[in-house]
Amino acid sequence: MHEMSIAESIIEIAEEYAAKENAKVVTELDLSIGTLAGIEFESLEFALETCKNGTILQNTIINIDKVKAKAKCFDCNLEFEVEHLFDACPHCKSYSTQLLCGKEMQVKSLLVD
Ligand SMILES: [Zn+2]
Repeated sequence: MHEMSIAESIIEIAEEYAAKENAKVVTELDLSIGTLAGIEFESLEFALETCKNGTILQNTIINIDKVKAKAKCFDCNLEFEVEHLFDACPHCKSYSTQLLCGKEMQVKSLLVD
């Protein structure tokens, strides 16, 4: 399950940030994750809950913002929501599309005390 190693690196990032700010606790952590980032949200939530025990993130409120994947069609310029990578344009059925967002995985904000 690679969600476990992702959770570990998210916690490392938060710990490093907190150390820089001389903070004792991280109160809130906002993550932004695309629906095509290849992550199972439930597994990641579980992994985070497990990994944060015993760290300064033990009582942190973790919010995961799911970014819906969107693509743009080169043929008709339609922007549409993508469920699977390489979905055809729902309007003209073209495969000539470009992914606009949905693969991101980032720490959006951190609140420390
Ligand atoms: Zn199209």
